[in-house]
Amino acid sequence: MCSCVASWISPSPEVDTHPIIDLDANATTPLHPAAAEAMARCWRDLGGNAASAHRLGQRARQALETARETVAHLLDAEPTEVLFTSGATEANNLALHGLLAGQPHPWHIIASPLEHPSVSEVLERWQAKGEATVDWLPADAEGQVHPSDLRNRLRPQTRLVTVMLANHEMGAVLPVARLAVTAGGVPFHCDAVQAVGKIPVSFRQLGVTTLSASAHKFHGPQGVGLLLVRQGTALEPLLLGGHQQGGRRPGTEPVALAVGCATALEVACREMAERTAHLRRLRECFLEELRRAAVAPEINGPISGGLPHVVNVSFAGLPGEVLFMRLDLAGLACSRGSACASGSLLPSPVLRAMGLPADRVQAALRFSFSYLRTEAEVRRAAQIIAAEVSHLATRSAPQQMAADYTR
Ligand code: PLP
Repeated sequence: MCSCVASWISPSPEVDTHPIIDLDANATTPLHPAAAEAMARCWRDLGGNAASAHRLGQRARQALETARETVAHLLDAEPTEVLFTSGATEANNLALHGLLAGQPHPWHIIASPLEHPSVSEVLERWQAKGEATVDWLPADAEGQVHPSDLRNRLRPQTRLVTVMLANHEMGAVLPVARLAVTAGGVPFHCDAVQAVGKIPVSFRQLGVTTLSASAHKFHGPQGVGLLLVRQGTALEPLLLGGHQQGGRRPGTEPVALAVGCATALEVACREMAERTAHLRRLRECFLEELRRAAVAPEINGPISGGLPHVVNVSFAGLPGEVLFMRLDLAGLACSRGSACASGSLLPSPVLRAMGLPADRVQAALRFSFSYLRTEAEVRRAAQIIAAEVSHLATRSAPQQMAADYTR
């Protein structure tokens, strides 16, 4: 058998041919063919480094700057406000460090308790080192944070507010524009990873200082993200050693990835209304099928007004990790939290912050649909879940865990 890397891309039939229904679109989404085609053309036809002064370099630069202008236009920003990064983890880190570096410690920061680890772990690290004091805002049972709570925590020495636009685990859409007004002149970072390409996002109207996004969440390539930085904002770079992107994010620009990102975003914005209607329908079908099978779960998160493609549920009394494992074996991919933490058996900090009871948090599973799923697939997924839930309900959890691990 060939051991080269390319053989992993299309494994031989005996390796893994089991069909898998992918209901984990918040972890990542398949590359859109238009993005793949645009990237292939870049790799084939543009050999230059976008920082080189010769014509080969200028051609690459032209493609890169067109990608930047496209992204800026679609997100209602200026091209000079767009930085390409390696992903949203880097974009979030760059925003937080970049906005605060050089200011005297300890920094007073106000944050939502629903943030992705690429925000929350940075803040926790600073807190542990005594470099920052973090006021975590309360969240309600529907995953909302409220401007009045932000207002009560603002101090003259507050250096940063950070609140995400849409939550990755349970799909709440947060009132960022109102929160940014409440924050007044305090720099405001917004992680918009799960919103960009799914719901309309205007950098200008949100009124935030920095905003992050990630191409692979909207059918763009993995390995490229965005940080929008409001004009006139001082941002210390995380990396040193180059002048690219105004020195704020040095390093050779990945032209093809930037073009793939812009192309995927263009398609996502053009098809947004159609995709949203389809995703809402999928979510309804999924819940309807679960109810039909008499295994109606508790829904964690917003009852209405959340992201159209996310549903986080708990089946009373059933531990989420066991159900997750059984669903995986049965050919259904879902998640127990953010992709970075989903290998962990720890209860979701997001659901805990919403004040949900421990057993409900322990039982929680996230299902997130891409527009590529069909009604038939989500109905089939719900039937698989119903069968596994009924099976588990007849056995005690420790027995079941032991049986699953020894399979
Ligand atoms: N922020 C949120 C809300 C996310 O859901 C994710 C990824 O799951 C990230 C940030 C990190 O994005 P990336 O995978 O591009 O590093």
